Formats: sequence, C-alpha cells, structure tokens
Amino acid sequence: MDSVTDDLSTALRARGMRVTPQRVLLHRALRELDRHVTADELLESVSDRLPNIALPTIYATLDLLEELGMVRRVQRAGTTLFDPRVEPHHHLVCTRCGSMQDIDFELDTARLERAAAKRGFVHERTEAVVHGRCASCRDAAAQAGASSPRNAAAT
Ligand SMILES: [Zn+2]
Ligand SMILES: [Zn+2]
Repeated sequence: MDSVTDDLSTALRARGMRVTPQRVLLHRALRELDRHVTADELLESVSDRLPNIALPTIYATLDLLEELGMVRRVQRAGTTLFDPRVEPHHHLVCTRCGSMQDIDFELDTARLERAAAKRGFVHERTEAVVHGRCASCRDAAAQAGASSPRNAAAT
C-alpha cells in the first residue's frame, strides 16, 4: 500500500468510514491525473477499471474526499473542477479555451480576510483567480490570419 492510499485509509478510519476499493481507486486515479479535472473526466479515467460506476457516485466520493481535505473544488465558468493539489496556490484561468493552471505566489490575503471578517464572514481559504488569456491563446491571437498549426497543450 503506497503512502497516498495510507493517508486516505487513515482519514477514513478516523471518521469510522469504510475503506472501500472504489474509494481507494478513485482517490488514486485523481492523484494519477495530477491536474484539474471535472467529475466527468474522472469518471472517464476510471471507466475501464470501474465499468459500472455512475456519475452520482463520483460526485459523492469527491464530496467525501473534499471533506477529508484531499481534493479542492475550484470554479471555472459553468463547471466545477476538482484539484488534487490541496496546499495553498492560486489559479490562472483562460477565458478563451477554459484551461486552468496553477500558480504559486505568496499573496498576503490577511487584509482581505479582515475585511471579510468585518462583514461577519468566517473565511476558510482565500485564493486568487487571474482571468485572461493563456500563452497558447495569446499566441494564436497574435498569429490570427497567419495559418500556422498550433500545438497548444491544454491542461
Ligand atoms: Zn487559452
Ligand atoms: Zn490548482
């Protein structure tokens, strides 16, 4: 049993919950994907290993993993993405292709959190989202008119 699975088992047992092969497999699949994924993409990635799994089960397991602090929910216009990376980081979201990238940046969020507290809001985490154009979309826009093939790596 690898350490990632160990962490999950420990967290589940601490709450008196069962360590099922399905939970273990979904958690591992998420870690293997190692990027921001939608519930559908996670379903797709395990469909060969768990042919009978349905989307509601995926959502229920993601809810559980979120409760255990093993995944984070991040919003992108219209979709919820699930992020296996739970340590503090921020996001760059391309408004053209919808790609989302991590960005590590030391942001002093204390003032924002104090302002939130003044409104009686209890913050849990604060993260920044920078909206704009990713490098490949920027290049594509720059080359608009020129017919050069694009090897955009959408993440
Ligand atoms: Zn883009
Ligand atoms: Zn992220």
